[in-house]
Amino acid sequence: MTEELFREDAKLLTCEATVTAVTGEGFQLDRTVFYPQGGGQAGDRGEWVLADGAVLQIADTRNGKLPGEIVHVPGPGQEAVLAQIAPGQRVVARIDALRRQRHMRFHTTTHLLCALIPKPVDGCSITADYARLDFHMNEPLDKEALNAGLARLVAEAHPVRHRWISEAELDANPSLVRSMSVQPPRGLGRVRVLEIEGVDLQPCGGTHVANTADIGAVVVTKVEKKSAMTRRVVLGFAEPAAG
Ligand SMILES: [Zn+2]
Repeated sequence: MTEELFREDAKLLTCEATVTAVTGEGFQLDRTVFYPQGGGQAGDRGEWVLADGAVLQIADTRNGKLPGEIVHVPGPGQEAVLAQIAPGQRVVARIDALRRQRHMRFHTTTHLLCALIPKPVDGCSITADYARLDFHMNEPLDKEALNAGLARLVAEAHPVRHRWISEAELDANPSLVRSMSVQPPRGLGRVRVLEIEGVDLQPCGGTHVANTADIGAVVVTKVEKKSAMTRRVVLGFAEPAAG
């Protein structure tokens, strides 16, 4: 099991850790700030700095075959530094902060969309350049109205926080369940819920900004009819691409 530092503090960019496993897929650590692809959100990229100063580029992060395994996938080449990686080795793991910030801004915006469009979600993809969210519905969506709604929720600066609740707590609070747009997975004993104060509450394991004001200029770039019962909302950044 890897300690998932990103679940408790999405602002953590770096951590010291120990290599616990080396496999054909990649490398595992005892603890990490790297988010593995999941819940629609892309996996983190970044680098590891070894004790002698050598740097290993990490191109992607995935869930491993067993629950709780997080696999850091190295980028191509790098044979010399790859040969140094072995269990027990200490590294400093550091994510690509700009890319992760873009994931967090988009991801938090998808929660705002869930509040603006109270329909079931049947697909989600969050990358550094765009995000898309598919809603199970056949009514048309108004792009300008959605953008006005997003701009209002960002300007209102709602705090964003997560907490863990037990399944018993969930069962004892029917009002909590009613306000959730997604039903949580059962059987794990506890559920991580993400609350945007006064706006949205739903189970979510992803990374988010701490306040809707931190989302900044994210806009709906496209609304598409994907099928008779699917409307797709595509998000982009209103400011020019960084770098
Ligand atoms: Zn989320």
